[in-house]
Amino acid sequence: GFKCGIVGLPNVGKSTLFNALTQTAAAQAANYPFCTIEPNVGDVAVPEPRLAKLAEIAGSKEILPARMNFVDIAGLVEGASKGEGLGNQFLATIRETDAIAYVLRCFDDDDITHVNNRIDPLADLETVETELMLADLESLEKRKSGLEKKAKSGDKEAKATLVLIDIALAQLNDGKPARFADVPKDDRKAWRNLQLLTTKPVLFIANVDEGSAGTGNAYSEIVMKRAEEEGAEAVVISAKIESELALLENEERDEYMEAIGLEEPGLDRLIHTGYSLLGLQTYFTAGPKEARAWTIREGWTAPQAAGVIHGDFEKGFIRAETIAYDDYVACGGEAPAKEAGKMRAEGKEYIVKDGDVLHFRFNV
Ligand code: GDP
Repeated sequence: GFKCGIVGLPNVGKSTLFNALTQTAAAQAANYPFCTIEPNVGDVAVPEPRLAKLAEIAGSKEILPARMNFVDIAGLVEGASKGEGLGNQFLATIRETDAIAYVLRCFDDDDITHVNNRIDPLADLETVETELMLADLESLEKRKSGLEKKAKSGDKEAKATLVLIDIALAQLNDGKPARFADVPKDDRKAWRNLQLLTTKPVLFIANVDEGSAGTGNAYSEIVMKRAEEEGAEAVVISAKIESELALLENEERDEYMEAIGLEEPGLDRLIHTGYSLLGLQTYFTAGPKEARAWTIREGWTAPQAAGVIHGDFEKGFIRAETIAYDDYVACGGEAPAKEAGKMRAEGKEYIVKDGDVLHFRFNV
């Protein structure tokens, strides 16, 4: 599955947030309970109100939401890139994620020490990113000499890779994460293949005190401003509040949220932001047995989307019978939508849209 790593200095609230994520009703909404894949990997349901509506209309017995993974990556301290703390293990775990969520401490609490004895979310961000940049620098330098030899003996691919490595090195040596580099469109794939830590999409999580859950505070404002400048995603959340909300259900939860001025659980916002940060979107299947959300990348074709359900669906793909979610709901289900001419037969080239309700026809 798609993975978002939770990263930050010690005592900023990572575990509190991770535990809240894995205890929440959303995590357990599927027919199988939250499962701990590994102690630090949480498999979380993506909250999706459209799914309940589809199930109601189709009379589905079961609701199966889309899922994504959050990984609690502890052990980052200054010097991690040099093997301090859990350094190497830490970096290896980050390498396997598709995106990085930085938890930034935006709450004062004299009883909870901060490693640098001050609350300064941007300085924390810099400390953490610096370790990732140093790790990237080291791995690029290591690769470079081997590639230079190959390039000299006329290897075109090595030459092209070297150009990209130099683009990345220029950024990193300038103290900037590699994601800010200007990479020609045609080289994007090779660029991704460099597998750098600082080219992963990022999300800032401003972890505020309980009293600021609905409003944010002065620290989180600084974080939001930075996110805007960088074009990064950001969410304000109080991990402490979320860990309490995760234990409540329905009305109790709604009342508590209203009392503290929260419109929707911070975790729902976090999961949605993470999902779109990964470039993911959802299509549905709906029938009497189940209503289900499937995860695809933006831009995927109908056969690729079919392949998420089963490889044979992709191989033997004939067509996708497609109803847009809004049409499905407005018409009151599949049969009436078909009668109203809202069901389209789409072929191999069709780019699936978020919210499409699909039936695949395929050869076996
Ligand atoms: P980690 O080291 O980043 O995983 O941090 P933890 O989740 O273990 O949190 C460190 C301490 O900060 C714990 O005692 C938490 O209860 C506390 N903490 C986390 N979030 C908040 C918050 O929003 N407000 C306050 N006051 N304390 C928090």
